Amino acid sequence: MKTQRTDDPIKAARWLRLGDCVAFPTETVYGLGADAMNADAIAKIFEAKGRPDDNPLIVHLHSIDQIDRVARDLSPAAWALFEAFSPGPLTCVVHKRDAVPDVTTAGLDTVGVRIPSLPVAQDFLSACAVPVAAPSANRSGRPSPTTWEAVRHDLDGRIRGILIGPQSPRGIESTVIDTTTQPPVMLRPGAISFEEAQRVVPALQLADTVEQKQRSPGTRHRHYAPHAAVEIVDAEAAAPDRDAGYLGLNRPKRPGTWGRVVLCRDLSDYASRLYATLRQFDREGFTRIVCEPVEPVGLGRALMDRLTRAAGHVSGETSNDAAAEEGEAPS
Ligand code: AMP
Ligand code: MG
Repeated sequence: MKTQRTDDPIKAARWLRLGDCVAFPTETVYGLGADAMNADAIAKIFEAKGRPDDNPLIVHLHSIDQIDRVARDLSPAAWALFEAFSPGPLTCVVHKRDAVPDVTTAGLDTVGVRIPSLPVAQDFLSACAVPVAAPSANRSGRPSPTTWEAVRHDLDGRIRGILIGPQSPRGIESTVIDTTTQPPVMLRPGAISFEEAQRVVPALQLADTVEQKQRSPGTRHRHYAPHAAVEIVDAEAAAPDRDAGYLGLNRPKRPGTWGRVVLCRDLSDYASRLYATLRQFDREGFTRIVCEPVEPVGLGRALMDRLTRAAGHVSGETSNDAAAEEGEAPS
């Protein structure tokens, strides 16, 4: 299949409405969209990505006014969270309507819903006029794409089109909160911090038990991994190496003896550059990537979650099992 490119949201929406997959930019990462209500279109997403079919998709809406088409019986916590953080990088897991096909939610009777804020994503979703299911637009297991070039690298020839837009400003996926339980539980840390969300829903809890973590199927799989081996090491302890790239907030020792050093201004800069830098280091042929750890609070919690997964740690199983499951070579 020839993958077409456009910067016209209306043209990209036309491809989607014909039942095809289209990648589009959002403020978190680029998504691979298909009509959430069309099971055949959704199957193309899993096929193009090589995504395990037990991993549910997030349904994207252009406005909260569309929520009735996919969800029912929203809890007061869900309404409060949408009110506070939408449009934006928040996904609420809510009870699904029967009209949403099982493939979209991997057989769950709940659905994750998000309303992106990036203007071009808004234009695209409103032109689509249907709810759009979209995981990140990468091959399964790889770092999420934050540029259209990264989408092309992973999915050229496998999808109908790419809607070209800016680099994703947040650079890290949405925060996923299950609002169908009492208390609500944060299943995946993301661009909105636990602390910010807890100010809106004081009862909110972190998914800290294995049982809670298993409720977010995506967290069981290997994720975000470049080809190079990723290590998480403090700046002063990191051993320099010409075949290695370094990414962090603080300057490592002997910066001139690294293959490349990428320094970030602050946590949000680190988050927004993480995936693009992992991909850049792969392109440059490094065999080792050293990332500096950060304190796991606020946005740092999401950053450490992605770093530990990129380094091959998967909750509840070894990284090799997970890699085999996704048909990816262990790094
Ligand atoms: P991705 O779109 O690739 O960032 O992955 C979306 C993630 O959202 C999945 O891997 C799940 O962990 C989570 N998710 C989506 N829908 C649900 C749901 N109905 N219940 C629990 N977690 C969900
Ligand atoms: Mg993903």
